[in-house]
Order: sequence, then C-alpha cells, then structure tokens
Amino acid sequence: MTKQNQTLWTEHIGVIDDMHLDQSHVIATHVFFGAEPALVDPGPASTVANLEAELAAHGLAFGDIRHILLTHIHLDHAGATGTLVARYPHLRVYVHERGASHMIAPDRLIRSATRLYGADMERFWGKIRPVPEQVITTLAGGETLRLGERTLSVYDAPGHAPHHVIYFDKASGAACVGDTAGVRLPGFARARPATPPPDVDIEAWLRTLDVLSGLEPRLLLLTHFGPIEDVAEHITNYRETLVRWAEFVREGMASGTDEATQIARLQALADEELHIESEADFARYKDASPVDLNWHGLARYWRQRAAER
Ligand SMILES: [Zn+2]
Repeated sequence: MTKQNQTLWTEHIGVIDDMHLDQSHVIATHVFFGAEPALVDPGPASTVANLEAELAAHGLAFGDIRHILLTHIHLDHAGATGTLVARYPHLRVYVHERGASHMIAPDRLIRSATRLYGADMERFWGKIRPVPEQVITTLAGGETLRLGERTLSVYDAPGHAPHHVIYFDKASGAACVGDTAGVRLPGFARARPATPPPDVDIEAWLRTLDVLSGLEPRLLLLTHFGPIEDVAEHITNYRETLVRWAEFVREGMASGTDEATQIARLQALADEELHIESEADFARYKDASPVDLNWHGLARYWRQRAAER
C-alpha cells in the first residue's frame, strides 16, 4: 500500500483497493468503520472476491457490514451490489432515486454498458445481478443518515450522472464524491475529467462543485482513487480542467475535423496535462477514465444542448 493509503486506515475510514483487472489504484471502495460499518461504492462484480479478502485482512467480515452507500449506479462503483446482497441479505443499499429502478432491474444498465465495452463487458465488470427492492433506501439529496454513531449528510450531485449523490461526514470532514471531483490517481497533482456517455451535464456539474466547495471538506474520497487532502486546490483545478475539456470538444466539433482526429487531440491534451510517464500509470488512467469515452460523453452533451435550442 502507498503511504497515502496508510494514512487513511484510521479508526474511522478505510480505503480498499479493488484491484480492478489486477491493477492497483484504479477503483477504490471506502469503508466507514464504527458500530454500523458501511461501504461506499463496493466496486464491480468482478472484484468481489478481492473486496472480501481485503476486508478480512483488516479485521472485518461481510457479516459485519451493515450498509452499502452508492454514489451512483455505474458498474465500476455499484456493479457488485446485487451479488453482495444475494450473499448477505442483511445489507441495506442507499442509492439516488433516479438510479434505483436500474439496480432493481439492471437490463438497461447492462445494455448501455455493453454498447460501450462490447466483448470486454464480462471480463471488466463480471455478472450484474438485480438488487431486491426491499433492501433499497432511495435518496434525492437533503437526507441525514444515522449509521450508529456516524451521521452522514446526502447531497444531490448531478453532472457526471443525474443519479449521483455525495455523502458528507461532517465530523471527520470527509466527502465521498464518487466521480464528481474527477479521477486523480496517487502521485498525480491534478485530476482528469470523467465524462462518459450518456448523462454528462456540465452546467449541473459546475453547480455541484459549488455545493461541494461550500461544504469545506477536509478530505475528498475519490473512487478513482482514494483520499485527496489539498481539497480547495483540487476543486479549483478540476473545475478549470472540466471547462477546458468541454470547450476543447465543442471547438473540435465546430471545426468539422473527423472524430478519430478529435479524440487523438483530446488524448494529447490529457497526456500533456498529467505528465504521465510510466506505462502502468497510462494503463490505470485508460481503465479509470478512457479518453475516447470522455470525448463521446462531452460530444453527446453538446449535441443535446444544440438540439434543445
Ligand atoms: Zn461513473
């Protein structure tokens, strides 16, 4: 484990490396310890065995976990949920009301992911199982969750997806932000946007970042990957990068250049911003936030905006 991770294995909050596709530092599951332990984003169905082993290594069994808190329903965050509830029916699952029906009947979620991932679908994400309706608590933002001695505030957080929430633990200052604050792997100074199709909304996203800043968190817990302590600087940088990428894609579309060239140019911008040096880091970013998907998500956003006028 990196030093960054070790600092977070405190008595309150932990970070588990899901080891997606056997790579470290791509997908994290966060754990709130305490009288009613909770997992934030259990990750993909393909990494459940690793999640169980990692919990055991830190003295927790799945029987001890009481709650699964989903930031949103994308498979890299929530794909394991149905599998886990089938094995551990006592678990309670919290999810945005806009995403709940897709957890109960995941066919559409699977179809939409299959369009993006094709033949890699099962290898990447495993088998997606439905979540029984009776274990689900739906959220819209504005709720207060009392999990034992811990109190979490829930905020509606559209932008990356309309079914995204942020969980804020005021006592520790930790905000579980899912993909709201981008993708920033350990050792990197700034974040890369995560803008896959089909639901990106830049205007909503900027408002969500305002809400997040207003909470003045001491710690951001990113699903990709782990704790961020330079919170204010991170959010400022991320906002700038998100706007720059969105404008870059809009200008590329207006120029009439072919799609492959536009994607290659966005990739060049992304590489220049992050100064990625090792093949391993390049592969991690490609897994956590593939630039071609990001381009398609932003292009779709601009086409929809144009159609609304
Ligand atoms: Zn996502």
